[in-house]
Amino acid sequence: MRVLLLGGTSEARALAKNLHPQVDIVSSLAGRVPDPALPVGPVRVGGFGGVDGLTRWLRDERIDAVVDATHPFAATMTAHAAEACSELRIPHLVLARPAWAPGDAIVVASDVEAAETVAAQAYSRVFLTTGRSGVHAFTDSDAWFLIRAVTAPDPAALPRRHQLVLSRGPYRYDGELALLREHRIDALVTKNSGGAMTRAKLDAAAALDIPVVMVARPPLPAGVAAVGTVDEAADWVARLG
Ligand code: NAP
Repeated sequence: MRVLLLGGTSEARALAKNLHPQVDIVSSLAGRVPDPALPVGPVRVGGFGGVDGLTRWLRDERIDAVVDATHPFAATMTAHAAEACSELRIPHLVLARPAWAPGDAIVVASDVEAAETVAAQAYSRVFLTTGRSGVHAFTDSDAWFLIRAVTAPDPAALPRRHQLVLSRGPYRYDGELALLREHRIDALVTKNSGGAMTRAKLDAAAALDIPVVMVARPPLPAGVAAVGTVDEAADWVARLG
């Protein structure tokens, strides 16, 4: 049994740790981050070249099953994996950490809608945590932004007035509270990433009565099997025999 783990998340690393070396796994990273946290076991890095490239790679590498543990917003990779596995008729599972309950957040469908909401609500000091690729929707915004991302966004995408903080979670409640206060933040913009590593900002925003604009997750491809925890994914692999 040879399993491809599509990674780039803490869940993918935990699953690799759970399976390796009993199961023959290979983890795959997109290669966007210069110093990625590496999973245990064999790792390959870089895109496959679309659905066709992935299909070829799965065949050449004699992969028997795929667990897609990419980030819930990595929708292109997830769609490609679903299509390639369906074409090759190999078992395929999505491991997606449970979404956050949106609570009182203003839920929007895209980064562009989030930017429109910031403008419509006249928020002026925004904590923007939608990641490097989410920044471009805010380029023309008049608000001031505290932008936190793992790697620097394209400078051309940055809004006129901003401060950039490059860091990687996990984040703690006290630190998030202090950050919101220090920068006099009046709105938080986040993706519904889910999980414990980055949720403290939501609790801190709630404590300070700061409104939250939350980008909803893209839907999973129709018909794919999905689980929410690393243990469930490990059980699924074990059952493949
Ligand atoms: P994406 O938009 O869904 O994928 C774009 C392209 O990147 C894919 O078509 C594929 O290229 C390549 N790719 C993505 N994930 C890959 C992987 N694990 N292994 C090999 N190639 C991969 O992906 P994304 O949102 O840019 O995310 C890229 C990586 O960062 C993923 O591994 C994801 O788990 C991680 N990540 C994403 C976010 C987020 O908010 N999106 C947050 C944290 C971590 P080809 O078409 O050439 O195969």
